[in-house]
Amino acid sequence: MKYTPILLFALLFGCGNTTNGDAEFETFSQHFIENLWKQNPGWATSVGYHKYDNILTIPNEENRQKSLTFSTQYLDSLKQFDFEKLSKTHQTDYLILENYLKSNAFYINEFKSFEWDPSGYNFGETLFKIMSNKEAKPAEIIANLNKFLSNTNAYFSAAKQNIKNPTREHTELAIGQLKGTKEMLEIGDIAAFFDTQKSEKTQLLASIKDIDGFLEFLQDQLNKIDAGKIKPRSYSIGKELFTKKFDYEIQSKFTAEEIYNKALSRKKEIQGEMYRYASKLWTKYYPNTPLEKDSMLCVQKVIDAACKSHVNRDQFLAEIERQIPILTEFVTSKNLIDMDPTKPLKVRKEPEWMAGVAGASISSPGPYERNENTYYNVGTLAHYSADEAESFLREYNQYMLQILNIHEAIPGHYVQLIHANKSPSMIQNIMGNGAFIEGWAVYSERMMMEEGWDKNTSINATESSDEMWLFYLKWHLRAACNTILDYSVHCKNISKEDAMNLLVKEAFQQPAEAEGKWRRATLSQVQLCSYFTGYTDIYEFRQGLKNKDKKFNLKEFHNKLLSFGSPPLKYIEKMY
Ligand code: ZN
Ligand code: ZN
Repeated sequence: MKYTPILLFALLFGCGNTTNGDAEFETFSQHFIENLWKQNPGWATSVGYHKYDNILTIPNEENRQKSLTFSTQYLDSLKQFDFEKLSKTHQTDYLILENYLKSNAFYINEFKSFEWDPSGYNFGETLFKIMSNKEAKPAEIIANLNKFLSNTNAYFSAAKQNIKNPTREHTELAIGQLKGTKEMLEIGDIAAFFDTQKSEKTQLLASIKDIDGFLEFLQDQLNKIDAGKIKPRSYSIGKELFTKKFDYEIQSKFTAEEIYNKALSRKKEIQGEMYRYASKLWTKYYPNTPLEKDSMLCVQKVIDAACKSHVNRDQFLAEIERQIPILTEFVTSKNLIDMDPTKPLKVRKEPEWMAGVAGASISSPGPYERNENTYYNVGTLAHYSADEAESFLREYNQYMLQILNIHEAIPGHYVQLIHANKSPSMIQNIMGNGAFIEGWAVYSERMMMEEGWDKNTSINATESSDEMWLFYLKWHLRAACNTILDYSVHCKNISKEDAMNLLVKEAFQQPAEAEGKWRRATLSQVQLCSYFTGYTDIYEFRQGLKNKDKKFNLKEFHNKLLSFGSPPLKYIEKMY
């Protein structure tokens, strides 16, 4: 199992040959990736690598020890490379690998979510990915599914042994999500797949029973929590774990606390800017009322009036489709970044198996499926009541919808992922940095506004660009407040009341949206920081380059920035 690259290459290339560092590293990383997939079959399946589709790993102590050994051995193997002699790309791969291996040990030894987060025990998405394997014949897929499902009993037995002090929030989440997976096996996509293939369902039915057993166990945990027989763990993980997780996941040059403080002061600035636009717009919306003196209230009132300008519920998808070519044209004519006409973005109605909540997301092909399409999934509003639809459409009003399209599509996520897929580094594609990916999307919103998108009257019914700025700033404020909320929930144990106050009063969010955000902050850690941290990293990096270089060219900067794949910005700075 242990791979010793130096020894191997000493044999292949002769001794003392140090110039082969890069070639050796390339081979090393290929072997590493192959072993990574062997070690983590579910992860492999999720990125479109189907060799291990029939394996469901049992989450027991033995396998955790194996995973730790994997980390220790590869950390050892890495040391055999002379870091200074590697190319910049390989140095970055090296650092990303090192971070991953250390974080793996951190999650097993310190974070231990396998003890308190039961929602980690769910394979629904993996099953869906196994089923959608385009390279395999239906009979092979059925065989893979059956083999995979033959481990569900052992899988849930190990899960029950692991769970020691679950949080109430993650237990409730686990029950909800697992019911979805059960439904998929009983009457959903997986059941339908077995039906069309006229396949024996013996294993499928046994696995459904296993899921039921685990659901009962989880419900029992909840009952015991309610009866005071189990003291649940708090959803708030505390500053020590949060800080470490932030360092491993976000990989910013700033610490969690530094970013929190930056977000606090940015919040003040944004609120000030919003008030400037709101007071300019006041007489347009409230011609007969004197200017509201309370600045927060003034902003809120202008937002309330201006958000009424939105598309009809049945026009939501059509409007997104209409805007895509206009955004492309703007980006191209303003020379902002290279576009790739051979990889068009396909706007589609959100597939059934996705969350089923209105909204939008990008599905991009993984590193093993580069020829697949990139989809812009748009949630349907069909199941909304008239009031729910109206509230949703006021949020994604005429102005906000443009920012959403910039963020998700052009030049946000879609454009970034097209560029990233051209990066030669497989490591950097597999271990993409969430903060860089979200940071680029958030950065691109501001960049588009700076380059004059707000004055684009081909898309805006109104002559004034002040509304565009007001709503852009509201959106941007959300990113800053995501960070403040995340840090406050986990490091400062903020009360729900104070959190709702922050989101509703200070960030102008609808109570329903704020409620959802609170829930998300109690169920996740660090991820909500990725937007503002990534944005700050990129924006400050760009401003630094601009100040140094009189011939700074925005398009060259963007093309180069995105050419490295999706590593943390602090590594791009070194390669740039
Ligand atoms: Zn309306
Ligand atoms: Zn995003």
